[in-house]
Amino acid sequence: MAKMLVAGEEVESKNRETLEVKNPATGETVDTVPKASKEDVNRAVEAAEKAFGKWSTTSADEKIKLVKKAIELILSKEKELAELLTREQGKPLKEAAIEIQKFCGDLEYYAGLAKNIRGTYFYPVGEGRHGWVIKQPIGVTAAIVPWNFPISLMGNKLAPALIAGNTVVVKPASSTSLTAIKIIELMWKAGFPEGVLNIVTGPGEIVGEELIRHPKVRRVSFTGQTETGKRIMSIAGPDLKRITLELGGSDPMIICEDADLDKAATGASVGRFFNCGQACLAVKRVYVMEQVADKFVEKLLEKVKKLKPGNGLNPESRMGPLHLKSQLEKVESQVEDAKKRGAKVLHGGERLKGPEYDKGHFYSPTLLVEVSESSTIVTEECFGPALPVFTVKSFDEAIEKANNSPFGLGGTIWTKDLQKAAKGATKLQAGYTWINSFPIMYDELPFGGLKQSGYGKEHGAEALEYYLETRSVVVNAD
Ligand code: NDP
Repeated sequence: MAKMLVAGEEVESKNRETLEVKNPATGETVDTVPKASKEDVNRAVEAAEKAFGKWSTTSADEKIKLVKKAIELILSKEKELAELLTREQGKPLKEAAIEIQKFCGDLEYYAGLAKNIRGTYFYPVGEGRHGWVIKQPIGVTAAIVPWNFPISLMGNKLAPALIAGNTVVVKPASSTSLTAIKIIELMWKAGFPEGVLNIVTGPGEIVGEELIRHPKVRRVSFTGQTETGKRIMSIAGPDLKRITLELGGSDPMIICEDADLDKAATGASVGRFFNCGQACLAVKRVYVMEQVADKFVEKLLEKVKKLKPGNGLNPESRMGPLHLKSQLEKVESQVEDAKKRGAKVLHGGERLKGPEYDKGHFYSPTLLVEVSESSTIVTEECFGPALPVFTVKSFDEAIEKANNSPFGLGGTIWTKDLQKAAKGATKLQAGYTWINSFPIMYDELPFGGLKQSGYGKEHGAEALEYYLETRSVVVNAD
C-alpha cells in the first residue's frame, strides 16, 4: 500500500481505509492508497502551517539548491516514474515521460524566478516619507489536481507556490495518486524541510472539501471540471480564500482557405488525440472553410486512421484507453447523441473490441462530419477521442460559432493572412490562442481560461503573483 506523506512521515489513514488504483488498460489493481480522514487532513495542514514561518524566509539560494537536487533525483527515476504513471493513468509511456519532464521544467522555471521576487520603492510619498511595496507569501496552500495530467498539473501548482515561500498540501485525484506520492517522496529526499510539502489522498468530496474548508488553508489552486470549480468557489468564497480555478474547455480550431492543410491536419490530430483526448486544451471542434473542407477532412482522416490505440506500456501504442469507465461511457453517449442527430461517422464511433481491449476502457479515435450544433458533443466538453468537423462559409461565421460556447480556454487559427490572424487572435474568446500551431504550452506564457473555463493564471511570472500578497508600507523617516 502506498502511504501519504505528512509532516515528514509516511502515514496511513487514521481510519485505516484505503482506495484501489486500477490500470485503465487492463482493469488490474496497481496498488492501494489511503482514504484520508478529517484528522489526517488536519495533521497535514497543521504541519504546513508550522513549517510556513521558516520556509517563508528561506533564501532564494537555498530554494534553488533544493529544486536542483529534486530535479536530479526525479530525472534519475524518470523511466520507472513514467511506467507507474502509464499503469495508473493509461497514457502511452512517451507521453508519461513528457509529464515527468514537464514537472521538472516547472520547478526549474520557477527556481529561475526565485531571485526576481521583488517589490518596489517610492520616495518621497508625502513629505519625507518612504513607500515600500512588498511581496510576501500567503501561507498554507492547497493544490487539488485532476487525473488527466496528474504530474505536470501538480507541478504547475506546487512549483510557484514553493518558490514564492508558501507551504503546500497536495490532494491528487484518487485514481492517480501513486506517481504523485513517489515524486513528493523524491522531493523530500532532496531535502525539502518537514511540513513544507505534504500529500493527502482520498475522495475529493471528502478530503478535498475538508482541505478547502480548513481555516489555516489560505490559498486554493484547483484544476478539474467546471462544476467542481463552482462548488469549490462556493466553499472558499465565504472565507475570502485566494483561489485559482483551471476548468473545462471546448477549444475550437479554425482552418482558413489559405491554410497549410497538411500542417493543419497534423495540428488537429495531435491536438485532439494526445492523451486520448483527455486534455483541457485540446481541439474539440473544427471549423473549416467550405472551399478546402473536403481536402482537409481527407488529410485528417488519413492521420486518424494511423493512430494505434493500445496499452500505454506497449511502445507501439499511440493512444491509450480512457482513464475511467464513466469517462468512456460519457464519450460514447456524446457520439451516439451526435449520430442520432444526423452526424456521419468517418472513422471509429465505437468501443474497441478484441483481446487487447476487452478489459480496458478503449474507444476508437473518432472523426465526425455533418454534426448538428445542438449535439452534446458540441454543447458540453468532450473529454475523449472524438472530433466533430464543421464546414463554414466565412471567417466571421467561424469566429461566431467558435465563440458560441460557455467555455473560453484555448483556440487555434490556421491562415497565412496576417489580417485574419490578428483579427482572430483578438476576437476569439480564449485564454490561449495559437496561430498556425497545434496547442502547446510554454512555461513562460500565462495560461488560464475565460468565461466558464476558469479564474486566475498558471505558468509564467503571473502565476507567481497568485501565490504572493502585495502589501504597502509607509516609513516616516523625518
Ligand atoms: P474533477 O473536478 O472531478 O476532479 C479534479 C480534482 O478535484 C480531483 O483531485 C478530485 O478528487 C477533486 N475533487 C472532486 N470533487 C471535489 C470537491 N467537491 N471538492 C474538492 N475537490 C474535489 O475533474 P477531473 O479529475 O474529472 O478532471 C477533468 C476535468 O479537468 C476536465 O473538465 C478538464 O477540462 C479539466 N482540466 C482543466 C485544465 C485547465 O487547466 N483548465 C487542465 C486539465 C484538466 P477525486 O479524484 O478524488 O474525485
